[in-house]
This record gives sequence, structure tokens and C-alpha cells, in this order.
Amino acid sequence: MNRHDAEQLDAQDPLAPLRQHFHLPEGLVYLDGNSLGALPKATPDRVRRTIKQEWGQDLIGSWNTAGWIDMPRRLGDRIAPWIGARAGEVLVADSTSVNLYKVLHAALQLQQGQRKRVVSERSNFPTDNYIAQSVARAHGSELVLVDTPEDIPSLLDERCAVLMLTHVNYRSGRMHDMGLLTRWAQQAGALAVWDLAHSAGAVPVDLLGSAADFAVGCGYKYLNGGPGAPAFVWAHPRHQGQVWQPLTGWLGHAAPFAFTPDYQPAPGIQQDQCGTPPILALAALESALDVFDIARQLGGMSAIRAKSVALTEAFIAAVDAALPQVRVESPRASAQRGSQVALSLPAEVDTYAVMQALISRGVVGDFRDGEPPLLRFGFTPLYTRHTDVVDAVAALQDVLTSGDWQAPGFQRKGKVT
Ligand SMILES: *Cc1c(COP(=O)(O)O)cnc(C)c1O
Repeated sequence: MNRHDAEQLDAQDPLAPLRQHFHLPEGLVYLDGNSLGALPKATPDRVRRTIKQEWGQDLIGSWNTAGWIDMPRRLGDRIAPWIGARAGEVLVADSTSVNLYKVLHAALQLQQGQRKRVVSERSNFPTDNYIAQSVARAHGSELVLVDTPEDIPSLLDERCAVLMLTHVNYRSGRMHDMGLLTRWAQQAGALAVWDLAHSAGAVPVDLLGSAADFAVGCGYKYLNGGPGAPAFVWAHPRHQGQVWQPLTGWLGHAAPFAFTPDYQPAPGIQQDQCGTPPILALAALESALDVFDIARQLGGMSAIRAKSVALTEAFIAAVDAALPQVRVESPRASAQRGSQVALSLPAEVDTYAVMQALISRGVVGDFRDGEPPLLRFGFTPLYTRHTDVVDAVAALQDVLTSGDWQAPGFQRKGKVT
């Protein structure tokens, strides 16, 4: 695909109007929306209004008059249709890590100590496995990790309490079959916990259709809620009211303003609210969800998925054609790939320095260390264009053939890579 073809595809793209709702610096090719989504143009004014009017003028009354107290549920209701859940089932709160802690504890309680294993993948995002280690330890259980997804079925037996997976792998972009794995886990008597960090807003997710048990996900990646945006949590309605989630704060109480000495869980997902919600951050996320309302009118998730597949396929094809020395580390079958593509380079090339050189040319992806180290590119369907794909591959080709990545400075690592 040349640049002209890319322009033609962008001209026909039904989601093209969405890009104008984002602030994207002129000349920048931003392929890191899977790590930090771009700023929606409406967000600064929305946050300013919350600060100046709701906080500044209306002060504490805003908990009622501006509906602050209902924001975690209200935003959850708006995320629900994008993940195959219903209104009332999703709560926006805390971080992905904290929500995972809550649902894993709940899942192990549901298993009543009968089973001693939490099963996940070694390649899962570290925080997921770290949290699982701690929760398993508290329940006298253990975390058992598989090296490849193909090994998962062999661990789904009478010892498995919980299968905890990230739907789209943060490194490879490999996407699991949620329905199939959930069914296999449940047939073995286990519960299925899904992390949707790299899925929500980017790929189709059907929690109820898959009959999943619990799910968590991230607000600052494809949902564009801003750095450190609150995350979300979902539990299948069949589990509601069965056990306590472990962070029994006052806002998860059935009657928080009764100020009773004893804890009584609120019904439904409200129980997962621990403390006071971060209203400024929720305001930012709420304005980001407005863009998804427009996306729904332009074709919804089927249009988002179609564009995501088209972008990642175009990127892989362009890399194959232009860069024979580069390996595509993501699945080549679109059905098994999320909205990102990972590449690896020959061993003598410093992958980190290549990404820095790319960024200096205005193409922003990211570097993920490991075996092998990866260049990672996210293709947020809401604002990425086909021309971005062409420009990114051309820039990568230029960095590699020129050897520019060897220039001093590109090796220096910041605290965040
Ligand atoms: C991004 C991501 C997280 C982030 O967790 P935080 O609690 O927000 O730091 C967790 N899990 C996965 C799989 C992720 O991709």
C-alpha cells in the first residue's frame, strides 16, 4: 500500500470523523493509544467545568446536584455495552490492579478453599500475576503459570480454582477466545476472570455471551480517560451477593450515610466501590465516553473492529514488504490479534534505541523489554489513519537502514519505557 492508497482508504473510512474529536499534535503519528489514549478535545472544558462550577461554586452540594455520587455507576453503564454487559453491572473505580485484587479474592472465596490453584500465563502483564500471587498466598493457594496458551487446557482440572487471563496480551497482542476458554474453565469447575485492559473500546467483548465470571479493565488505554484514569470492574449477576469483595469500604456499604458500625454490602456491583470516587478523573473519562457515543452512530463495534483489523493487516503487510529483517511477533491471523502489533529486530540491533529514534521522527510506539525485546505499535481505531501506517513503516525503514538509532542519546532510558 502506498500513501495514495492509504489516503483513499482514509477517505472511505466511516470512522474518520472521530479523529477530529481528539487533540493530536500536528505531524505526530501516535501509535501508543494502547498505553495512553489520546486527549479528547472536549475533556479540558469538561474537567474545567467540574473544577470551576461544580467544585468551585457548588462545593459539597455537587455530590447530589452534579450527580458526583452516581458517576462510578453512570460511567459503568456507558462502558457496559462495549464489553457485552448490561447497565447496572459495571462499576468504574480504583485501578485495574486493585479491581483484580477484589475479583480474585471474591472468586477464591466462591471456591471455598476446595481448589488451590490460580492459573494464568507467564506472559501476562506483571501486575496481574503479582496481584494473583498475593491473593493466592492469602488463600493458601498458588499461582501456576503456563508458558504458552496451548498449555492452558492441561491445567484446567479439579485443582484449578480460577483461570485468570488477559484477553489481549500486552506484549504480543494475541487475543484469546473468551467464550471457549471460559467454557473449558467452567467445565473443569473453575471460574474465569478476564482482564480487558487491551480490549475495552478496541475489540468486541461479550462477557455475558461468554458467561464469564468476573472482569476488570483499564480506563486510560483505548477508552482515552487520561493518565491513571479509573478502571472498571464487572461480576456476573449470578455471583452478586454471594461473597464480600475484600476492600469493604463505606461506599460499598448498603447504606453508607446511615453510618452504622457494621458492614453490610450494597447489592450488586456497588459493593465494589471502596472509598470516595475521584471526581476530576471521572469527569475526564466521562467526556472520553462521549466520543464512543459518536462511534456508535458511525457503526459501533463492528466498524471499530473492521478498522482495527484493516490497520493491523496493512501494517503487517507493509513491514513484510519493506523490512525482511524484522519479525512480526503478533499473530498473523486477525481473529487471534487485538488492535496492536509487536515487532522484533535482529539481535545486533538495539530495540530500545530504535524506538527512541522513531519517536524522535514523530512516530510514537513503545518498547517492551523481554525475550525478545519488542517494538510495540497500537492502532486505536478511533483516531489512527491508514496514512499513519504507511508513515510509520517508512520511518522505521529509514531508522534501520540509516543506522540512526546508533546515535548517542537514543540508548538512554527514562524511568518509564
Ligand atoms: C495496563 C494494564 C494494567 C494496568 O494496571 P494499573 O493498575 O492501571 O496500573 C493491568 N493489567 C493489564 C493486562 C494491563 O495491560
